Amino acid sequence: DPKDRKRILILMSDTGGGHRASAEAIRTGFQELYGNEFHVDIVDLWTNYTKWPFNQLPKSYSFLVKNSFLWRLGYYFQQPRIVHVPVQRFAAAWVGSEVSKAFDQYQPDLCVSVHPLMQTLALRVLRSRIRGGLQRPIPFATVVTDLTTCHNVWFNPNVTRCFVATPEARKLALHMGLKDHQVVVHGLPIRPAFSHRFPSQRKLRKHLGMDRDLPAVMLVGGGEGMGPVEKTVDAIAAQLGSKCQLIVIAGRNKKLVKRLQRKQYPPGMKVVINGFVDNMPEWMTAADTIVTKAGPGTIAESLICNLPILLNDFVPCQEHGNVPWVIDNGVGAFDRDPVTVARILSDWFTVHRKQFDVMVERTKKLAAPNALFKIVADLAELAQIRTVARGGADGVLSLPANWNRAE
Ligand code: UDP
Repeated sequence: DPKDRKRILILMSDTGGGHRASAEAIRTGFQELYGNEFHVDIVDLWTNYTKWPFNQLPKSYSFLVKNSFLWRLGYYFQQPRIVHVPVQRFAAAWVGSEVSKAFDQYQPDLCVSVHPLMQTLALRVLRSRIRGGLQRPIPFATVVTDLTTCHNVWFNPNVTRCFVATPEARKLALHMGLKDHQVVVHGLPIRPAFSHRFPSQRKLRKHLGMDRDLPAVMLVGGGEGMGPVEKTVDAIAAQLGSKCQLIVIAGRNKKLVKRLQRKQYPPGMKVVINGFVDNMPEWMTAADTIVTKAGPGTIAESLICNLPILLNDFVPCQEHGNVPWVIDNGVGAFDRDPVTVARILSDWFTVHRKQFDVMVERTKKLAAPNALFKIVADLAELAQIRTVARGGADGVLSLPANWNRAE
């Protein structure tokens, strides 16, 4: 490593796929904007730097999220600061010395958290390292990977910067005590592939073996192929049949792929069934609309590709607010019933075509295709800070509102 190469440590944990995806997107964003100027590491502090039971966090998440009652209970119980701060401080006291080793190993100039359960832990460990003379103050940034409903643990007033995706999320941050200048709204950090220029829809359709003219519906259930995908396929086949082409992305759900491949479809109906695909931007550009659960990543990506969004499911708690967000912004609809979903699609392509076209126009305004690069540029600036500014309340670098002008 060249000596003056700044080191960035991204903290995440594999609870759901989104946090790693955001961390990877930020790392790729740094490479695309700055080549090798920065050294970026990604680490799961909970799994790799804590002992049992704390290192089981991703496993407990998978279990909890599938048991909706327990998930809701845990989620809402931990909302008040009076509950989650002591819980996390307790955890930090328990695992602090192990976690401290990660900072010894990576020697970051900037810490970036893309996970709700990283703020309190990492900030406390950093503070005790600074007090113990093991560490100089460094900036600490949170990049929130939820769109609208963000759990309160995301927001710690001692961070240098907090990047959020929407004005709704910004309100939550301010409500949790962050100051105006700490909160920045750029959008969700979506992988750079979505910001690149794409061939025309026509060319892509040819390349992907799709029909040139038929309306194309994409059906997705997040990375794991969750939600009522199969029933929706049946309803679309029954109601639209050969009047549309259907692209199903079943993600990592291999059983679903097999079941869908065995099905009989109406004569003349074009159905493409995919498992996990790496070329999501191509499929989205080739499609006209998307039916999906309310995952933040898929929603933000669909907007970038100008797809009106028909939501058919959401993960309780953290995806809940994405439903009214899509509807209130006039870029889609929500219905859990597969038969109604198929009817809405059929209307969008026929009697409601004008409203559909208006929604397409609105997606263009709401999309944030450059969010990742804006976040990366701001992070790069934070990592360059040379002055050892005053330590914040938590001992980590906190900056006055006008720090970049003052320097
Ligand atoms: N995704 C993908 N290939 C697939 C299915 C999904 O690349 O076959 C990506 C999708 O583009 C999005 C992410 O997986 O970036 C899903 O994130 P989201 O927040 O929508 O839902 P999650 O699966 O995290 O609940």
